[in-house]
Amino acid sequence: MRRTKIVATIGPACDDPQVIANMIRSGMDVARLNLSHGDLKTHRQRIQLLRSISHQLGTEVGIMLDTCGPEVRLTHLTQPLTLNQGDIFILTKTPEPGSYQAGVTWDGIFDMIEPGHLLWIDDGNIVMRCTDQQPDALRLEVVVGGLLQNRKKISSPDLTWPLDILTDTDREALLMGMQEGMDFVAASFIRSAEDVVTIRKFFEENHFDVFLISKIENRAGVENLAEILAVSNGVMVARGDLGVELPPERVPWLQKDIIAQANELGIPVVTATQMLESMTHAPRPTRAEVSDVAHAIWDGSDSVMLSAETASGLYPVESIQMMAKIAEDADNRREFMTRRSLPITRVADAVSRASAEVAESLEARAILTVTATGYTARMVSRSRPSVPIIAISPNPGVVRRLKLTWGVCPISSEDAEHSDDMAAKAIEAAADYGYVAEGDLVVLTAGVPAGIPGTTNLVRVETVSNPVLVGTGLGYGEPITAPVRFQPKNHEDLPDEAYIAVAVDFDAEDKEFFAHAKAIIAEHSGRTSDIAVAAVTLGIPAIVGVQGASKRLHNGQIVTMDPIRGVIYKGRAKI
Ligand code: PGA
Ligand code: MN
Repeated sequence: MRRTKIVATIGPACDDPQVIANMIRSGMDVARLNLSHGDLKTHRQRIQLLRSISHQLGTEVGIMLDTCGPEVRLTHLTQPLTLNQGDIFILTKTPEPGSYQAGVTWDGIFDMIEPGHLLWIDDGNIVMRCTDQQPDALRLEVVVGGLLQNRKKISSPDLTWPLDILTDTDREALLMGMQEGMDFVAASFIRSAEDVVTIRKFFEENHFDVFLISKIENRAGVENLAEILAVSNGVMVARGDLGVELPPERVPWLQKDIIAQANELGIPVVTATQMLESMTHAPRPTRAEVSDVAHAIWDGSDSVMLSAETASGLYPVESIQMMAKIAEDADNRREFMTRRSLPITRVADAVSRASAEVAESLEARAILTVTATGYTARMVSRSRPSVPIIAISPNPGVVRRLKLTWGVCPISSEDAEHSDDMAAKAIEAAADYGYVAEGDLVVLTAGVPAGIPGTTNLVRVETVSNPVLVGTGLGYGEPITAPVRFQPKNHEDLPDEAYIAVAVDFDAEDKEFFAHAKAIIAEHSGRTSDIAVAAVTLGIPAIVGVQGASKRLHNGQIVTMDPIRGVIYKGRAKI
């Protein structure tokens, strides 16, 4: 089972709903929208498309908006330009189209860049040196040539742009994100704790509870790492810019250091950029890239990220499939996933660690955490247990935020938290999603009283005995496990995936729906009813006379049915 999460960047390569659906099916946990590219309207449409498709597929996908931040980009370049070493290029406030001239998104650059300063364009692929500074123009000499394209980022190894941490475009886009119910903000070029606080204030003013991922991608971010992490909800090792703003050879060690500090705090850490870069153009990655993904996971990443591979590459779906395969293999190498000697200073640390140890020594099927804020689940994840962590939360936002945390399968259940018998409800919810079944041993951990982060103080061991529905079996053959589907309102809408049809009343118009099912569960009817006769004629196994089926089952829920005995188990039961 894959435990590491996959973040994929959405762009023009995935505007086809079918591609998005396949990306979700292949394992995209979080979709990232990069505000440095595309307009507001497109971003909004993409968020809506993502939500509607994930809803149709019955899977939650987290939505992350990634800010522009204090960055400067090239403008007014009407067509790509090949630059050679020694060429002269002009940055100006009044660029002439079709010449060796371009504009910039921030005029302050004309005051800041002096003769001798280097400018790095497009992540350092092109390098120019300033030879003359005028109030409204910079004369530059090409040191390293290449193909120059519009909107490419300009940075300088010598300077940090003194810009606001949020640009006006960012503010406008984040307001849109709040309306659309985004789950994460990835904040670019975070330089200090103060930058994080500035962003938090903006969200507070707009009454939005932000989950803020600080991107570490420049010198100031590295220098102030500890204070930044202390006020962030998560962190991204943004290797693309980090390897421009600092020498690239420092990136591997910084990656390990940032990840280790995030693991210690129990906040999610995403390792990003160029992970399967060659898959932008080729259907298979280089071996070095495959190795990089696995090592990022062994370093302790919660999530690994795809950028151009999915946003503008030729193989967006294949890139996710590849990443999922690498992650699954890496996740199963237990010798590299062992608990680090993390400090245990709080009750919550000790109890979360204990739950992982108990689950492993008893070979439990899963660790169940009932979590109002996601805190308990993150603390359990921190000790990288070998068994799945099922986080049950009444809050769909919390469920989606856990999409970034290693090893956690988050599910929503309305009443898990306030129930008298929290354990029974948690087990029922986990069984509903097929994670646990009859006879499984599970470890429960939670914080009581509920709703206060940091109170994780309870470990309990239980055996699952599922509520069972019974009826008259009309079948033969093996037990069947599949999601249940109720009759669609529109008779033509047949589910894409295999399903067990639930009949409330039989209607001849629904014949196609029943004919395509793997099996049928019928509520009121007996052996001689229309639905029973139809099932036998169609040769589809059925259980009829299942009292309460429509109340106790819900659309999409996985059940296992034994058509001979006429018994229905919730989840994937081993029978
Ligand atoms: P970006 O951030 O893709 O928004 O530039 C990630 C990075 O710099 O690595
Ligand atoms: Mn970046």
